[in-house]
Amino acid sequence: MHPFWRSLLDFFYPPRCQICYKFSPEPFCAQCRDKITLINPPVCARCGAPLDPLAKGPDLCSDCLPLSRFPITWARAAGIYQGPLQRAIVGMKFAGRRSLAVPLADLLVESMKNGLYSGHAAFDFACPVPLHPQRLQERGFNQSELIARYFCEKTGLDLDTTPLERTRPTLPQVLLPPEQRLKNVRGAFDLSPDADVQGKQVLLIDDLYTTGSTLKECARVLRRGGAAEVYVLTLARPRPPWMTPDRREE
Ligand SMILES: [Zn+2]
Ligand SMILES: [Zn+2]
Repeated sequence: MHPFWRSLLDFFYPPRCQICYKFSPEPFCAQCRDKITLINPPVCARCGAPLDPLAKGPDLCSDCLPLSRFPITWARAAGIYQGPLQRAIVGMKFAGRRSLAVPLADLLVESMKNGLYSGHAAFDFACPVPLHPQRLQERGFNQSELIARYFCEKTGLDLDTTPLERTRPTLPQVLLPPEQRLKNVRGAFDLSPDADVQGKQVLLIDDLYTTGSTLKECARVLRRGGAAEVYVLTLARPRPPWMTPDRREE
């Protein structure tokens, strides 16, 4: 948009924070931004769960320690799913506010600078977790694809939305207890007929890493198709038990 029209528009409709709706030139105002808990090292080498910096122990969290196999090379999340970050993700996903995808993708780009992502090869492309066509029709957009798209625009990484397909609809993972989530998504994804993932370093992008069931299933399918490594990047993950809740919201 031409700067003149932009300033005229800003005069009549001053920009507001996308989370709290207070006037703010930035999409996330300083107060909301300040209440977003970004994840910093140390984190679990596999799933990216923040590790208690005061506890001396292995570099894996208690969930990953007993697992002999983990189809994801590493997963990392930008922040803790609480406060303004949670409100932004919920607003995008369930209230259909697509405009939130831009500042959320910015947050993901920013999180790549905090030392969580060392020791990986260059990614060949990023791909989002697909939605089942039925869900896509209901929601009107795939939030993972939107985030991946803006993330790739910012980083110059190639975006490939085609390698994975949903083969059947699944129940929303949030409605299920953790032990049923793996079963819910087992066999729910497949490689698309023209997927080219052989020997590729794939970066999977999604909004949330909760139990990781969906992302692990996608990684399994990509690896079965010959992907060399599958990395995962999400906007948020739940607060680990050792971390004190942020009460500034309450
Ligand atoms: Zn705000
Ligand atoms: Zn872990």
